[in-house]
Amino acid sequence: MKRKSIFASITLILLITVGAVLYRLPAVQDVLLKRASSIVFTSAPKPFDGMKVVVCGSASPLGNTMDRAQACIAVVTPEHFFLIDVGARSPVRMGQAQLPMNRITGVLLTHYHSDHIAALPDVNLQSWVAGRKATLQVFGPKGVQRIVDGFNEAYALDRGYRTAHHGSDLLPPTAGPMTPITVESGILWQDSDLTVTSFIVEHDPVSPAMGYRLDYKGRSVVISGDSNATDDLFAAAQGADILFHDALARHSLDIMTAAATEAGRDNLAKIFMDVTDYHADTRTLEAASTDAGIAQLVLYHLVPTPVNGLTEAMFRRGLKDETLLAHDLQTFELPPNSGAISIR
Ligand SMILES: [Zn+2]
Ligand SMILES: [Zn+2]
Repeated sequence: MKRKSIFASITLILLITVGAVLYRLPAVQDVLLKRASSIVFTSAPKPFDGMKVVVCGSASPLGNTMDRAQACIAVVTPEHFFLIDVGARSPVRMGQAQLPMNRITGVLLTHYHSDHIAALPDVNLQSWVAGRKATLQVFGPKGVQRIVDGFNEAYALDRGYRTAHHGSDLLPPTAGPMTPITVESGILWQDSDLTVTSFIVEHDPVSPAMGYRLDYKGRSVVISGDSNATDDLFAAAQGADILFHDALARHSLDIMTAAATEAGRDNLAKIFMDVTDYHADTRTLEAASTDAGIAQLVLYHLVPTPVNGLTEAMFRRGLKDETLLAHDLQTFELPPNSGAISIR
């Protein structure tokens, strides 16, 4: 028995040693890179004949972690692809989720805090490189013209370099600059299968700020953007299959505020206190969601953003098991004209 175990250990060490040597050989490295590239370039998400929703960013500015990008929700159907907000690092999630950047329909911005717009130039470039041939439409409340004009100007040289280098067939200059579309509350986009509706939310002093509802073949998803829990929001979300609502765990933030004050970090403590009046407290959301007939409540844009098991458990304090805390790359599939929601 002892002899067998010594033999197994020697064999294992030999295999590890041979593997480590092979790993450093250029010929072996070339084969491995080719194989890995081939897998990445030929893989594709399985087609889904309904509305698919992917969390491409679940964090808020209060909690900067590599596990969570900033606010971003993707809604994909066989014919449409909208991004609702594009916070920092969300393009990484878009790549990991293999979202169809080449056929993006548009970006819906809820408001212009940096954690909702920071990745707009990356989304524009990635979708252009992926094959988008028309300008990227960027919808948002009043102010979107200024946001898009500013990004277009800041990235004008970059677009010029890229078209000069790769050619106008690959990167047509007309598709380079984004096009802003200012929206009021009401229907902003519609075809025979999909209706996108915007509604005003409460995020003072940010005004106007908006949420969006997307209805597709009898299924619906609502994204609050940043907002307190308001009657108007829940009226707009009435009967939705999924409501993604921003959420603030006051009990966690109070402890962090006290710790910041004790540490003499007065600026931080003030910011912690200030944000409590313009995000929805976790404890206000479940009853309103039930009353509005919403099938699945998902909390995202989490303030403070959980960074480990302890802070996530604290964030969940007082919540029902059915209420979900979004995590990056969480995916919801809603088959047409059904009540089913598949979550993974
Ligand atoms: Zn905000
Ligand atoms: Zn925000």
